Amino acid sequence: MVRLAARMGALGTETAFEVLARAKALEAQGKSIINLGIGQPDFATPPHIVEAGRKARRHGVTVSPDNVLVVPGGKVTMFFAILMFGEAGAEIMYPNPGFPIYESVIRFSGATPVPMPLHEAKGFSFSAEEVLAQLTPRTRLIILNSPANPTGGVVPRAEIERLVAGLERFPEIAIMSDEIYSCMVYDGAEHVSLLSYPAIRDRLILLDGWSKTYAMTGWRLGYSVWPDKLIADATRLAINCHSCVNASAQFAGLAALTGPQDAVHSMVAAFAERRKMIVDALNGLPGFRCVNPGGAFYAFPNIAGTGFDAKGLQTRLLDEAGVATIAGTSFGAFGEGYLRFSYASSLPQLREAVERIRRFLGNAPPQLAASGQ
Ligand code: PLP
Repeated sequence: MVRLAARMGALGTETAFEVLARAKALEAQGKSIINLGIGQPDFATPPHIVEAGRKARRHGVTVSPDNVLVVPGGKVTMFFAILMFGEAGAEIMYPNPGFPIYESVIRFSGATPVPMPLHEAKGFSFSAEEVLAQLTPRTRLIILNSPANPTGGVVPRAEIERLVAGLERFPEIAIMSDEIYSCMVYDGAEHVSLLSYPAIRDRLILLDGWSKTYAMTGWRLGYSVWPDKLIADATRLAINCHSCVNASAQFAGLAALTGPQDAVHSMVAAFAERRKMIVDALNGLPGFRCVNPGGAFYAFPNIAGTGFDAKGLQTRLLDEAGVATIAGTSFGAFGEGYLRFSYASSLPQLREAVERIRRFLGNAPPQLAASGQ
């Protein structure tokens, strides 16, 4: 049985939402309900506004709508999941290098962040044995992310299966699987959803959303799937935080899911082409070594051979070569020696960026490069 943070006991609710849910359920049974509960205008949103919102099922398993929470972006799911389990004395495991908000919110919650190392030699996958060996009686939540930011790594099915099999021995540990890049896998790499393992469904939180798949970052729209025993807590957090996602974004999100998916396929095809180009080009730069990322839209070359540290190279490339990249250390201590390149940019821009870096490396005085200044 998973163990919630004590703060969850202090979180109240807004009864209007409970009454609304009950009223809707009764109406669905054919009962006549006059709803004087919720403070919500009874007029329909004017049509031109709805229309503007309109402009803008993938995991292969059955999920009941009762377990789904639509939220304003993927970040909200991770914030809720970490607040739900994180408190002083608790440990939460998270990928490192990984999306920086995991570690940030774990610290904010009072819990101890326990890094899950990702290995370049394993295509930036974790080792299930290594992860399992780090679990302790204090571990409350383990965060997984595949395909990953910032590495582009995709965890192979066999590794996931070893981890899931091991986690069966720890029924008190909840799992949050961040699958926001699930549609972006290349070269026949497969996305394996943690949702497809019944043995952990009763403590699995799935994070996904529209931001990446549908190029809708600014719409602030995500969804999560919660197990039966956590959905009420997640809903209470939502009621306390944002009530619901703005309606125009929800209409747009619905259109994205139910409409033609051609745009997704062509975006993924474009990313695949850019990935090939940038990985080849980065591997041709002196001191760079870049594994072929299986997914997402990031390349994460090892730059140790340049003599610079990650932050030093990030700063000099921006100031002197006019190329913005992100130091691997922005994604955790294990990101030292790497730079993140987002290839969500046009092919000509990517080519120009690599040329600028080549010129910069050619001109960087060796003594400066060696000291990483
Ligand atoms: N998870 C990962 C791994 C991400 O890279 C991002 C955004 O970059 C998010 C979640 C957050 O997504 P959203 O913009 O929907 O909040």
